[in-house]
Amino acid sequence: MICNKCHQNSGIYKRNYSGEILCKPCFVISIEKKVKKTMNDFSMVNYGDKIAVAVSGGKDSLSLLYILKKILKGITSDLIAITVDEGINGYRDESIQIVRQFCTRMNIENKIVSYKELFELSTDDAVVLRNSNKISSCSICGTMRRRALDLLAERSEANVIATGHNLDDYIQSFFINLFSGDIDRISWNYPKPVEYGAQCIRKIKPMMGLYEKEIIFYALHKDFPFQTLECPYMHESIRSDIRVFLNQLEESHPGIKYNIYNSVLKVSKGLKIDLTSKQSLKCLICKRESSNKICSVCRTVQMLSHTSGI
Ligand code: SF4
Ligand code: ZN
Repeated sequence: MICNKCHQNSGIYKRNYSGEILCKPCFVISIEKKVKKTMNDFSMVNYGDKIAVAVSGGKDSLSLLYILKKILKGITSDLIAITVDEGINGYRDESIQIVRQFCTRMNIENKIVSYKELFELSTDDAVVLRNSNKISSCSICGTMRRRALDLLAERSEANVIATGHNLDDYIQSFFINLFSGDIDRISWNYPKPVEYGAQCIRKIKPMMGLYEKEIIFYALHKDFPFQTLECPYMHESIRSDIRVFLNQLEESHPGIKYNIYNSVLKVSKGLKIDLTSKQSLKCLICKRESSNKICSVCRTVQMLSHTSGI
């Protein structure tokens, strides 16, 4: 099979939803172009933005950091890598090492913060403390991660947080919200960045249009030293089941994930709620913006402290 783009080299990758066959150099270029297109389509970055890239050491975040540095040349050089240490023994230590070395190689500053430092609790601690509460480790960890990333971005004086969510993550989140009846969150999935907090931070997902499989391929071709070890808690979350289900569907109906992605964009756009009409309060504990008297982070930490009797 010959590459459909350059018509010279042998193809190494078939893109199921478009039927394209690409050689290695054309595949690599197509990934970088796709990220650029997504960023343009949804006006993700403006001149003068300072971008904090959430980097965990996995293939998505290392690829994102590399691609952003490359394509944002001339638009902004204000790029910083931010990393959260969730405190998961035997898992996070390796990835933090990878991030440090990768950032040194890329000449990008890296800021790290741990849950222990921010909340006096690691994810490992939370898993022990939750006792009879049915809450999954990923719900606890995800809630704390959002806050940790906000704080890191604020400390870095960044106004944009870029995360490495891919197309698979994006559609999985849609089903998670759909199955839990959380229609507001479905509407938040539309990638029109909303500014929040005192620093008017926006969250962007430049790789949301790329299959996870394509990013793995990209990272392998670029020889990125990404972490392959999975988090020991990941199978507790419903996301894991939805991931398996969607991969099975894609196996028997190639390209279906891409159709779902386009449908999710349309549905979330159609559902778009007016966030400015939502009541904005200040959390009584941490004093940060919240839609309730006590924000979800403080509620989670309180719940864990009560079950442990602290
Ligand atoms: Fe946290 Fe769950 Fe991700 Fe593990 S899989 S790092 S527990 S959100
Ligand atoms: Zn709070």
